[in-house]
Amino acid sequence: MKSIKENFKKRHIVIIGSGIIGKFNALELSELGFQITIIDPAKLVNGSNASLGLLMGNMYQKRRGRSWDLRKQSIELWPKWMEFLQKFNYELIIEKPLIQLTTNEEIFKKLEKFVDENNDQNLRILKRDSVIIKNINKVFQTKNIKGLISFKDGRINAISLLKTLDKYLKHKKVNFLEEEIIKIRKSNNQWISTTRNNKEIKSDMVILCNSLKVIDLIDNLSHNIKLKPVLGQAIEIDINDAEVDLLSLPKQFNINGKNIIPKTKKKLIIGSTDEYSTEPDEDTFEKLTSFLDQIPSWLKKGKISKKWYGIRSKPDGEPSPIMKNLKNGLLICTGFYKNGILLAPACSRWVANEIKKYLS
Ligand SMILES: Cc1cc2nc3c(=O)[nH]c(=O)nc-3n(C[C@H](O)[C@H](O)[C@H](O)COP(=O)(O)OP(=O)(O)OC[C@H]3O[C@@H](n4cnc5c(N)ncnc54)[C@H](O)[C@@H]3O)c2cc1C
Repeated sequence: MKSIKENFKKRHIVIIGSGIIGKFNALELSELGFQITIIDPAKLVNGSNASLGLLMGNMYQKRRGRSWDLRKQSIELWPKWMEFLQKFNYELIIEKPLIQLTTNEEIFKKLEKFVDENNDQNLRILKRDSVIIKNINKVFQTKNIKGLISFKDGRINAISLLKTLDKYLKHKKVNFLEEEIIKIRKSNNQWISTTRNNKEIKSDMVILCNSLKVIDLIDNLSHNIKLKPVLGQAIEIDINDAEVDLLSLPKQFNINGKNIIPKTKKKLIIGSTDEYSTEPDEDTFEKLTSFLDQIPSWLKKGKISKKWYGIRSKPDGEPSPIMKNLKNGLLICTGFYKNGILLAPACSRWVANEIKKYLS
């Protein structure tokens, strides 16, 4: 009897979309032995390239339900995939810990309750008298910041991760087609994906990882899936203040919903906002720097040295992400308006399990 892997070798799977979700699915499935083709017209501009790469898993406060299950599974899978991916890029790391900060008493009480109830060694409350908090308050010229430290959460550089996945996929001889798919249909037990240039790619299965554009490909198959665009923005700011050393701050943290990553003594990244639009406004600086009652003087005087944004897709009328086995070898894995980097391992595992079930 032929081994399962040998059987998989004969199966061709097309993945539409090469963001983090498409690439992670390709990783998971090529390790199982499938022949993979990834199709995407734009290798550089997508939601994944814009990402700050924060992995907010263990600090997620709702510890039940599908959302938590996916996070929990990703938390378990990340160290294994890191060990694997480091063979292709030894510099790829997850910087830990991650700190969540607030100036809101109510929110802080909820954080205290969460840590209290969960008895999790990897989470600690940071009160005003903690050395880390004293320093953060000093730098941000306030007295009200406090929060939570999560030793299991952290940050991966999203661009490095995507490049490492590219290296792996090349090594595995995964086929990459720089094309846009405009139609998919099933004919004689095969899926046919048609490109804008009228090429037809045949496969046994198709996985849709193309975010907002999923709708264009499945509309005619009458599935009731709706996705809304959500804008995420980030800025890199240069500061000019002899007193401030940004490297004295933690490596990554979040204050009142804004993610902050100090890069050098005088440079930091701030992101991201969730806005239901597709074009960033002119007032990005104000939007991203107004997370305290008063903007610290050094930040107010800061100059934007880089600015970028990405559009993600949010499911309308159902929870994020959308993971569905639509029919006869057509799967959908999209709608990651947040946490796509964090959830990629768990969601790719789900896809792989569905495919194994379908083929058995
Ligand atoms: C500023 C910002 C900060 C973020 N920070 C974080 C963070 O800290 N942590 C975290 O986990 N997440 C973060 N996110 C969210 C994360 O980036 C997304 O959840 C994730 O990138 C979604 O990946 P994706 O593969 O689903 O979509 P995308 O990366 O958008 O990929 C979809 C791909 O599909 C392709 N495509 C579209 N139509 C077609 C077609 N017809 N044919 C072929 N290909 C097609 C597109 O070209 C695109 O490359 C952030 C996002 C932004 C914008």
